[in-house]
Amino acid sequence: MEVSCIGGHVSVKEDGTLLLFNAIDSGLYTIEPITEKLLILIKNHGIEAAKMLVEEDFSIVEEKIAELKENKFLDSQPEFTPPETAPITTVSLNVSHECNLNCRYCYGSKTYVGKKQFMSREIGELSIDRLFEWSDDSKMVYVTFFGGEPLLNVGLVKHLIQYGKEKARSQGKDILFSMTCNGTLLTDEIVGFLNENGVSVLVSMDGPKNVQDQNRPFKNGTGSYDTVASNVQKLIATRNSVTARATLTRDCMSLNTLVQGLREVGFTNVHVEPAAVDGSCPFALSEKEFETLKEEYNLLGELFLDSVLNDSSFGFSNILRTTSALYKSAVRHYPCGAGRTLVGIDSTGDIYLCHRFTGMEEFSMGTVHDPDFSLQKKILLTHVDAREGCKECWARHLCGGSCWHESYSHHGCIDEPYNLKCGLFKHVAALSMIIFSKMHEKDRKLLDKMFRRNEPSYKREDLPEKTQP
Ligand code: SF4
Ligand code: SF4
Repeated sequence: MEVSCIGGHVSVKEDGTLLLFNAIDSGLYTIEPITEKLLILIKNHGIEAAKMLVEEDFSIVEEKIAELKENKFLDSQPEFTPPETAPITTVSLNVSHECNLNCRYCYGSKTYVGKKQFMSREIGELSIDRLFEWSDDSKMVYVTFFGGEPLLNVGLVKHLIQYGKEKARSQGKDILFSMTCNGTLLTDEIVGFLNENGVSVLVSMDGPKNVQDQNRPFKNGTGSYDTVASNVQKLIATRNSVTARATLTRDCMSLNTLVQGLREVGFTNVHVEPAAVDGSCPFALSEKEFETLKEEYNLLGELFLDSVLNDSSFGFSNILRTTSALYKSAVRHYPCGAGRTLVGIDSTGDIYLCHRFTGMEEFSMGTVHDPDFSLQKKILLTHVDAREGCKECWARHLCGGSCWHESYSHHGCIDEPYNLKCGLFKHVAALSMIIFSKMHEKDRKLLDKMFRRNEPSYKREDLPEKTQP
């Protein structure tokens, strides 16, 4: 695969396919080499000089220039004016700081995870009351249960779901619940409750037994694979699709091994992220390992394409997300909703940019008793068209900028992108373009079926598109 930047846009070539991606409006086009050549000449010398230099039939040149104009490749970037404020429509509730696992890369182990601390009923109810206040006129609100392990405080989870539903009814709004859990406490009874209440569940699991047991042991050191695999099957048996969220460390760089291990458990969809650790941590991926990862993504891309073209149920959400963004010509200005439309609330009622910033004073947004959203202004102003290091990036409107927490972990501030991850993101974006074009070539209706099917009946644009537990 060959990727070339052309005046802010990008062309991607592979096996005779030539694509041109518009970095401003995320439009993707199959083009002929003459169009690429013309665009390079226009960007370097202007339209009139390009016509002279291209050495091609005049009518073809005019036709291709008209196409480039129509598809806005010759336009300049319109200015994005961020709103001064935004309604908060999602709260991520840290109902239990405690956890029954001892994951070796846990991002919260230095700040809050592991403390014997549960959210009280009073703080939980007040958090939900606040969510309804903060959401202004938004019809939809979202609650995510998080931890530690949220199911250690399952009594509160159950109570808050009923409380939130009643509140939504009385306010004429709709409410949706989701949860990220480690899978160790999913009993038949809990699975039944989650199903009855339409709670989406993301299970953190790292792959086959040897990897899961090494990365995610119980507190007493024994492996958690057998428990999690058996519990998760209860959930899988009752749902069309369950997603595993896998964390990648340098000890298992084979995405294929990892994904196959999760498919064997029964997961139909997998999302993979490198461990959220700073560069000095022994689990952090080096530059070389990020390069290896690109090769691994290529292999998984083939598996994904094969699965989609043969109507099998395997989903690889890292690729699915960018393919879906291409289908919708999505233009993102932020990496996620954190601090803008979403906040994290810890068990004591302290509010933070998101769950990962829990305990970090610099990213505090007050408390549920006394909220202070002054940080929201900074977040709104740090959109991708303004962010140094991002504003010239061709992938900016697919990416939205890197996760605030990853930037902070690697650079000590939220403004600077995490460059190793950027290289990987751009690789996956280009790979997704090739996959998208092959799907389009084979059967355009396949894309409609896939992405319309995945589209909820209401828009969930307020939810963080890139949730990184
Ligand atoms: S975070 Fe990286 S990939 Fe994303 S827009 Fe910024 S520079 Fe581009
Ligand atoms: S992407 Fe990063 S900043 Fe955004 S919600 Fe997830 S962890 Fe927080």
